[in-house]
Amino acid sequence: MGDKQGFRFHGGRPSVNFTATVGMRWRDGGFERLTDPAALGRWCTEAGLTPADPACSAADLAAARELREAVYRLLRTQLGDDPAQAEDIATVNRWAAHPPPVSALHLTPAGLRARPVPATVPSLLGLIAADAVAVLGGDEAARLRECANPECSLLFLDTSRAGARRWCSMSACGSREKMQRYRSAVR
Ligand SMILES: [Zn+2]
Repeated sequence: MGDKQGFRFHGGRPSVNFTATVGMRWRDGGFERLTDPAALGRWCTEAGLTPADPACSAADLAAARELREAVYRLLRTQLGDDPAQAEDIATVNRWAAHPPPVSALHLTPAGLRARPVPATVPSLLGLIAADAVAVLGGDEAARLRECANPECSLLFLDTSRAGARRWCSMSACGSREKMQRYRSAVR
């Protein structure tokens, strides 16, 4: 798995990180990181939403991408883009109403124990959408930023006290800019 294929988790919240499964959005269509249903399952696990990759169908992947783009467009409204569309709000609300992953009781020799029921993709999309509702509808929305690297385009919540964070990741985009400034200074 190349670096480009790796998922990005610099957004500060699952719903913001989910929009980072498209990279380089300044390119037409961007760079799709959820290339197949299995990639969606891997993302859910790497995002910490579930302990094991859920089984994903092609329909799950299509639904996930639809939710992701609705969340992305709504996040962008915080950056001064077009006003929120009713259709996007409805998509997020529909998924946010979906029951989240659950646990079930098991009787073990040591007594009753709760164990997670293997998560379904719809239950995980419910988690992501509920997170989007909390982010977009709360005070944190004002903390939304786009990475200052024009080639990057990832969104993140700036939770720094000064509110002056510019990069999705200092080690990726931040250090790259420092290197470019250094090179042009040397020249
Ligand atoms: Zn960046």
